[in-house]
Amino acid sequence: MTDGGDPIQALVRLLSRLPGVGEKSARRIAYHVLGGDPEYARTLGEAIATMSQRVRRCESCGAYTTRARCALCDDPRRSAELLCVVARPMDADAVERARVFQGRYHILHALLDPLGGVGPAEFPLQPLLERVAREGVREVILATPPTVEGEATALYLAECLHAAGVAVSRIASGVPHGGDLEFTDPITLGRAMEGRRSV
Ligand SMILES: [Zn+2]
Repeated sequence: MTDGGDPIQALVRLLSRLPGVGEKSARRIAYHVLGGDPEYARTLGEAIATMSQRVRRCESCGAYTTRARCALCDDPRRSAELLCVVARPMDADAVERARVFQGRYHILHALLDPLGGVGPAEFPLQPLLERVAREGVREVILATPPTVEGEATALYLAECLHAAGVAVSRIASGVPHGGDLEFTDPITLGRAMEGRRSV
């Protein structure tokens, strides 16, 4: 520990690494937990540890699950012919909330970002291509975010999937450029899914 053994400082440093949590908020959270019910602090710590031990990625789609395959991949009512490719698990959640999609998801957990160290060699393309071939996917909907990396990823995937003989479409604009699927309202995202264009 580099905090002179100070447990408060140790927690503040850990919390500061969370998205959207600066040093000031981290300190506020640490004091809040410290001043509250010790049972809550213990349960919170255990919940975080248990989550990271028990939750893994679905071997098929990459969603978080406690089983080998997630419930959605095992749901026979979901079409295996239609695949929606997203960057992150919360993006799949956002598309689900729009209630317009009856296929399955593929979660990349990555975007093409050559300047950030994710070039075509590092990008997880192979599992997607293998899945498309294995499960007889007919159409892939690219729902990567409308950011520079998201668009670059969509272009790259469209090229690779065309070569594999699959129909490819991109969700329509409506999701604001630079925006986040997670924070796009379900109606707008539903329209973007329905108004998707072939690419
Ligand atoms: Zn799955």
